[in-house]
Amino acid sequence: MQADLAIIGGGPVGIAIALALAKTPLKIVLLESGGMSFDAKTQALYDGSKVGTPYVTLEASRLRYLGGSSNHWGGWCRPMDAIDFEERTWMPYSGWPITKKDVDRYFVKAHELCEAGTLYYDGAGKVTGDLGPRLALGPGGLTTRWFQFSRMHGSVLPTHFGERYAGDLKKQAKLTVYLQANVTRLGLGRAGSAISELDVATLDGKKFTVKPKAAVLATGAIESARLLLASNDVNTAGIGNNHDLVGRFFADHPCPRDNATLVLFDGKIAPYYLGNQVAHGAILRAGLFPSEDFRRSQAVMASSITVEGKIDLDDVGKAAVAVTAAALGVDASNAVAHSLGCGMEVTPDPDRRLTLDASRDALGMPKLKLHMRLADQDFAKYRLTLKELGRQLLESRAGMLKLNSRTRDEWFGSLDWGNHHMGTTRMSADPRKGVVNADLKVHDVANLYVAGSSVFPTYGAANPTINLLALALRLADHLKGAVK
Ligand SMILES: Cc1cc2nc3c(=O)[nH]c(=O)nc-3n(C[C@H](O)[C@H](O)[C@H](O)COP(=O)(O)OP(=O)(O)OC[C@H]3O[C@@H](n4cnc5c(N)ncnc54)[C@H](O)[C@@H]3O)c2cc1C
Repeated sequence: MQADLAIIGGGPVGIAIALALAKTPLKIVLLESGGMSFDAKTQALYDGSKVGTPYVTLEASRLRYLGGSSNHWGGWCRPMDAIDFEERTWMPYSGWPITKKDVDRYFVKAHELCEAGTLYYDGAGKVTGDLGPRLALGPGGLTTRWFQFSRMHGSVLPTHFGERYAGDLKKQAKLTVYLQANVTRLGLGRAGSAISELDVATLDGKKFTVKPKAAVLATGAIESARLLLASNDVNTAGIGNNHDLVGRFFADHPCPRDNATLVLFDGKIAPYYLGNQVAHGAILRAGLFPSEDFRRSQAVMASSITVEGKIDLDDVGKAAVAVTAAALGVDASNAVAHSLGCGMEVTPDPDRRLTLDASRDALGMPKLKLHMRLADQDFAKYRLTLKELGRQLLESRAGMLKLNSRTRDEWFGSLDWGNHHMGTTRMSADPRKGVVNADLKVHDVANLYVAGSSVFPTYGAANPTINLLALALRLADHLKGAVK
């Protein structure tokens, strides 16, 4: 089969790129492993093993059918900050080859694809006044900022990209979607400098080859690394792996639950801190975030702190509240305590990585092994952010904070994960430091691009999907000129 462009993977990224290019003269094929719904045999192709720090099983943390993991995502959206793109002396391996400004203009469309209503984010404070005041925090490093949610229209569920956009994909004359089409090999031409063909197989034994002028790998951060590493027939290191970077720097957002207890002396908190609020054409929720200045001055990473449900204080907690309130001269007779949750950024780590394993899946592809690690230092830095929040609460005399975790065991006692896989094909202008360049093209391969959060060199604390969609739309613009 011939095509101008082959898109491998029909998750949010593959769908966004296919629709963005559907009205161009390009003949496009979208190759998706699954069908329209969950199928256990297809899902089993995601099976892999893991060692090290406890983590979600590779088969369970993503879904393999049209729409990909958007079939079970939470719909939380938030663009990254400008600082997330910058090189920071205290953060090893930081610095994107692009700035936030290079992607800014794609967020409107990305937000629209997520059906997330009017785009407010940090402007949301202007429209939520009628729902109650923001938390009183003394001057300092943390401020209230906003998440928005897919999906504003039609349903309480977030947008499931497959179900939502299957009809739109079908209508496009120059775009053909192949379901149950598993790409099993990216075929490099003999010179090793361009992709010449893609091997495709179905679970019921059919095989075919696609010969595209260019290809976009959009199979999620775990599977994209697997396909690059496993396509090692011409270059034994795999594709894009001359500097042993593919699969390294795997990352996710650890979410330590109940990591601190927030006590508000007057017991009052606006509802938009505690859950999603439909207001002014959007679904909004507030969180507490370290400012860019605080992150710079204290050398801490990004984090997004959420206020969760009410909790009862034990006797020691009650005594601490009484003593603190007396010292501040405030009435705490109506004090209410809430548990805090968080999504934390982690330090990039080349040894937190995916490698090929000896065992094979039903299509004969080598499975992956995840080597998971998490540094104590990452928790220590997040604790500095919490301490600052506690200081600001005392300063405003609005409340106080009790920090619940100090040791590794305590942090891990309540640890959850965002399932935000990132970093395995990182972006850098320098081929020795990254797998793809600023245009998301694999270094040294003329016609292969990788899209998705695997290209993030650092991770911020924002939810990845709206950010990876903005980058995917930027790539689609690039491909309009690049594929001829
Ligand atoms: C439980 C959960 C909750 C989440 N909540 C949020 C949230 O609230 N906010 C947020 O921003 N993000 C969230 N995410 C992350 C979000 O789902 C991903 O960022 C997003 O789905 C990534 O899109 P993608 O297109 O890059 O990859 P995927 O969604 O992984 O799609 C990849 C596609 O490629 C296909 N594929 C795989 N291998 C092959 C192959 N060999 N050949 C052909 N096709 C293949 C798969 O079937 C799949 O359709 C969550 C994820 C999980 C698991």
